[in-house]
Amino acid sequence: QWIFLGDTFVKKEDAVVSVYDHGFLYGDGVFEGIRVYSGNIFKLHEHLKRLYESAQSIMLNVPYTEEEMERIIVDTIRRNQLENAYIRVVVSRGPGNLGLDPRHCSQPRVIVIAEALALYPKELYEKGLRIASVASRRNRPDVLSPQVKSLNYLNNILVKLEANQAGVDEALMLNDQGYVTEGSADNIFIIKNETIYTPPVYLGALEGITRNAIIDLAREKNYEVKEAPFTRHDVYVADEVFLTGTAVEVIAVIEVDGRPIKDGKPGSITNNLLKEFRRVVTTDGVD
Ligand code: PLP
Repeated sequence: QWIFLGDTFVKKEDAVVSVYDHGFLYGDGVFEGIRVYSGNIFKLHEHLKRLYESAQSIMLNVPYTEEEMERIIVDTIRRNQLENAYIRVVVSRGPGNLGLDPRHCSQPRVIVIAEALALYPKELYEKGLRIASVASRRNRPDVLSPQVKSLNYLNNILVKLEANQAGVDEALMLNDQGYVTEGSADNIFIIKNETIYTPPVYLGALEGITRNAIIDLAREKNYEVKEAPFTRHDVYVADEVFLTGTAVEVIAVIEVDGRPIKDGKPGSITNNLLKEFRRVVTTDGVD
């Protein structure tokens, strides 16, 4: 397996970074997770746009243009001869000293890892997930924007830890006012009376690329989709609940805080959207 590191490709065993890298010391950097389906990179431009906007927000200079980065990503996939893959792009602040001042970091470091995809087990999609709301709250957007996909994922890790402790599959993250925002690394949708709802991102959710793709797809299929605030109660009494994300795609939620959603089985609209999503991903590439 070949990994792009800095300015060249190295073998997986040799892909190591300095302990002085501020990505390691402070979580100072940004990243993206991207999928390749049958040789097509799904929504590459949207992912690159988000990567560069995250970097711009934290004053991190990505040492490649978007076009160069696209080439690097395509080359990484080709070199590893992958048809279906998960790509991780990381841009860290690079090696500095032990202080946190980024001015002492010499050069941002780019890493691109492409791996053959370990698909989530089929049973998980058939069974659906059990999730629980957690005490840790989504950080306030005016403090640190959830749109910055930074390497500092402690907020998300804390909610994942709570979900693990609660013995469920995923966390339901609320904001400081108690409105539903998202999961630990996925967006949430609920369906009530055939209308699909997802929280507006200003409440404190990442504007997920899968989220946006599902909104478009659902509207194409003539479903009404609304971005509107909702609370846990709305989730408990929903007809269907599902999560979206690059890794998980679209997955049904069948239980929230111990309350079964309807009959406790994945809903038909959710299943339909997953089917449609899988149909479009293989054709909607750039390569
Ligand atoms: N929310 C968070 C916090 C995430 O890290 C992710 C994963 O990227 C998502 C949502 C889902 O976004 P996307 O569909 O772009 O992968």
